[in-house]
Amino acid sequence: MNLKDKITVLKGIGPAKAGSFAAMGIDTLEDLIFTFPRRYENRGTFVPIGELKPGEPAIFRGTVCGTSVGPYRGRGNRLLKVTVSDETGSVNLVFFKGGYLNKTFRRGSTFDFYGTLTAGRWGAQVVHPSFTREGEMNTGIVPVYGVSGAVSEREMVSCQKQVKELYPEAEDAVTGEMEKRHNLCSLEYSLSGIHFPESRQHYATARYRAVFSELLVLQTGLMGAKAQGGESLKGVSLREGREELEYVGMLPYKLTGAQLRCIDEICRDMEKDAPMNRLVQGDVGSGKTAVAEAAMYKNARCGYQSVLMAPTEILARQHFEGFRSRFEPLGIRVDFLSGSMKKSERDEVLRSLREGETDIIVGTHALIQPDVEYCRLGLVIADEQHRFGVSQRTRLGEKGENPNVLLMTATPIPRTMAVIFYGDFDISVIDELPPGRMEIDTRWVRDRRDECYSMVEKELSRGRQAYVVTPLIEESERLNVRSAEEVFTELRGRFPTFRVDMVHGAMKQEEKEAAMDRFARGQTDLLVATVVIEVGINVPNATVMVVENAERFGLAQLHQLRGRVGRGSHKSYCFLITDSESETACRRCETMEQSQDGFYIAEEDLKLRGPGEIFGTRQHGLPDIQIADMARHTDILAMAGEEASAVLARDPQLKLPEHRTLREKVDRLFGENRRLDL
Ligand code: ADP
Ligand code: MG
Repeated sequence: MNLKDKITVLKGIGPAKAGSFAAMGIDTLEDLIFTFPRRYENRGTFVPIGELKPGEPAIFRGTVCGTSVGPYRGRGNRLLKVTVSDETGSVNLVFFKGGYLNKTFRRGSTFDFYGTLTAGRWGAQVVHPSFTREGEMNTGIVPVYGVSGAVSEREMVSCQKQVKELYPEAEDAVTGEMEKRHNLCSLEYSLSGIHFPESRQHYATARYRAVFSELLVLQTGLMGAKAQGGESLKGVSLREGREELEYVGMLPYKLTGAQLRCIDEICRDMEKDAPMNRLVQGDVGSGKTAVAEAAMYKNARCGYQSVLMAPTEILARQHFEGFRSRFEPLGIRVDFLSGSMKKSERDEVLRSLREGETDIIVGTHALIQPDVEYCRLGLVIADEQHRFGVSQRTRLGEKGENPNVLLMTATPIPRTMAVIFYGDFDISVIDELPPGRMEIDTRWVRDRRDECYSMVEKELSRGRQAYVVTPLIEESERLNVRSAEEVFTELRGRFPTFRVDMVHGAMKQEEKEAAMDRFARGQTDLLVATVVIEVGINVPNATVMVVENAERFGLAQLHQLRGRVGRGSHKSYCFLITDSESETACRRCETMEQSQDGFYIAEEDLKLRGPGEIFGTRQHGLPDIQIADMARHTDILAMAGEEASAVLARDPQLKLPEHRTLREKVDRLFGENRRLDL
């Protein structure tokens, strides 16, 4: 047998089976070796039937004493009940649509089962246990490959057993030096620990190396793509100059060191031949807008158009008004485009955009409609970019000829993860808040709503404003969740002397805007809202953020919401109301009380939710990774990342013999062009 042999050389694998394996991406024996289990079941040893405990998965052996088939319910749809026993007792097994198994479970024959005892309609039962003939069930830690199609777990394991002898010949991406430097186990040991773990320790050691190898491949690919992309493309390049400093000098406040550094990084990028791909990460309130403005100013002074896309119309309009008041006196023309504009207005904006009268255009995704044409598009900015889908950003970028691209986000990606999700992007971090910002007093008030609203009243009496946010709910899941309308009615009764208003997702765009606008102008005191205000809104006189049913919000969302207050010179508060006992909800509230650091909060969020959920792995076009769990393997991620950049520095094309396997695995993971669709 040889690593490159087709799997049909194995016992039991004919051409048909091989087809099913191929559908899982397995053609050769080597593919098989590097197909890792999805999860493991710790089956332990056989449990006597009389000692099965409800809720605990267990493996047991039983002899069939009887079966009964339920009534016919359409094609093949008959329930099968099997009673099995040993000397300690008996138990019922239930197979829905299991009628066809009736012949298998002949009375008197013995099987091994793995399943969980539960309370069912007819007493204790085990639903859909896995089963084998007596003596064929694996005990101890059992890998589950998550096979599909016509391949069964048992066949997979049988194949894995047959290729064990090839382990000494297998190769992964880890070089001998890396193995030594990081004290990793051998590949042979690693493979046996992954496919046939003898103990937890064996598996842990084995997995460590596999994760290292996988993250090395992933990061080498990502970093390599970045290096390549930079070389080949020719984009808009601005003449060298210091125009941005002119703009900075005109601002009514002094920029922070971090803001100035970001502006410098951006402007130097824009002067290069290669198009800029830069992500600015800055916590809520860190002053990203001023950074974007300086970049747009320079871009305009060099004779190019800028476009800024915001995720909501409210936010876009707020930017538009700010830009107009600052740029028009300087002779820079700012326009606005949204989906809700009248056709005649829209046509006029499109015309002046196309003919180059517009210097800066702000808007929503209306900016990427096919009939929107630009003239000398130099700079594309996506604000709060995490709210946009990949394709929206890509389409915006395709509007010009490789314009410079700037993404801005207030949802920090934990440092360790940045290369994974923004491998193609350079990253600037605004890690400093403007001076004079006060901590936002954050309190998890549990169910003490009364106390909380007394505090709100105090602030309103001082002339401050407050937000009350309620979760968006479906009619069908009313339960104990307060809707915006209920809260609105209640608070209007409670605060008769204050002006209480409401904005929610079901309102018409104009109504929403009108309500936001009244609040921003100080014409209303308290705004009850669903999360439509989550992003970007700036009302410095608002000092209180109350979150009703806080258990309904994710950590990043809570942090965003809190960022709507504390934007002026007054002390601000954030109250989290929830009587939820769920552990996740409690940890989120505790984290909010303890920290205002967006990076710390992002790391915690990652631990609570896992990376896929946060970033939408699929959406980012990130290749499948098998074994690494990036939320928990941040240390390996960092080590492998250093190795990846060292490898690329020495051998950018991965031509050296010791990098051959690494190169193969990178190509395989990323496909041919190695560029991500970000
Ligand atoms: P974000 O990063 O959340 O988008 P903004 O750009 O909206 O933050 O800025 C928040 C507020 O801080 C704005 O009112 C802005 O004018 C103000 N600001 C920004 N930079 C500074 C600074 N260096 N000094 C004082 N105020 C600043
Ligand atoms: Mg902003």
